Amino acid sequence: MAVVSRCSRAATAATTANATTATTFAYLIRSLSPFSSSSSTFDPQNDLNNRNKPAVLGTLKRESKGRNVQWVFLGCPGVGKGTYASRLSNLLGVPHIATGDLVRDELASSGPLSSQLKEIVTQGKLVSDEIIIDLLSKRLEAGEAKGESGFILDGFPRTVRQAEILEGVTDIDLVINLKLREEALLAKCLGRRICSECGGNYNVACINIKAENGRPGMYMAPLPPPPQCASKLITRPDDTEEVVKQRLRIYQAMTRPVEDFYRSRGKLLEFDLPGGIPESWPKLLCALNLEDREDKQSAAA
Ligand code: ADP
Repeated sequence: MAVVSRCSRAATAATTANATTATTFAYLIRSLSPFSSSSSTFDPQNDLNNRNKPAVLGTLKRESKGRNVQWVFLGCPGVGKGTYASRLSNLLGVPHIATGDLVRDELASSGPLSSQLKEIVTQGKLVSDEIIIDLLSKRLEAGEAKGESGFILDGFPRTVRQAEILEGVTDIDLVINLKLREEALLAKCLGRRICSECGGNYNVACINIKAENGRPGMYMAPLPPPPQCASKLITRPDDTEEVVKQRLRIYQAMTRPVEDFYRSRGKLLEFDLPGGIPESWPKLLCALNLEDREDKQSAAA
């Protein structure tokens, strides 16, 4: 996946206004840290020029004036945020930053936070806003040092407070709210497998929901690992039935209000996944007014 261009079809109706290029990345990094303060470089003229422009049209990588896209993925555990955020990040050339991965890296590092985080994560609870913002700030700072700009955030913000902090320091152009039928979520988490060597994500679950009472059926094929990963698969310790159910409950209580937060600002793109990657990816691209030429070419080959 590499080439980005406009999709010829119309963009989705659910788009956003207020795409600004105003706040600098450095400011985001400094301000996200709970231990520092700074002033914004907000540019009202730029903001006004961009107001009322649908964000997905106004902020694509090659069209944005001054910075790359700043998008957020929301959605229940198991919905596929990581899969689609990572594909979009390759397509748009911006980093995919998953706070769940930052937490797992910190856990694996056996650093000072490690045992505290282990207890929280294995119970399916949320890490404190302070810890998560600190981890995210460090990740953004390291990225900035490497010349990264723009981002696709996955798993952040997860509380209204996190959303407010983010809003206070930078403009989010678009929030993609992925939705999948509830019956599939638990099965997808339980079927998730990760390659302990390359970190690749796979799924052994075969989801086949029959059509019922006027509701269409849904089929999601397993996503098998390539042969080189097959013997190295591990399961996330928080992907047990009990913990996934707890994570789903916490999503309803703590993160559902974040959807309302962005909905009320006109930034939320609701996207119902119609099935697995082959059905969903082209539809998501079209909803975002994007095109993946490499994907098309390989499908045609
Ligand atoms: P999920 O599959 O539930 O979306 P993630 O991989 O995003 O899981 O996150 C794993 C765990 O890391 C969460 O259950 C939570 O403990 C912690 N975590 C990740 N992001 C956040 C966040 N923004 N705020 C608080 N805790 C977080």
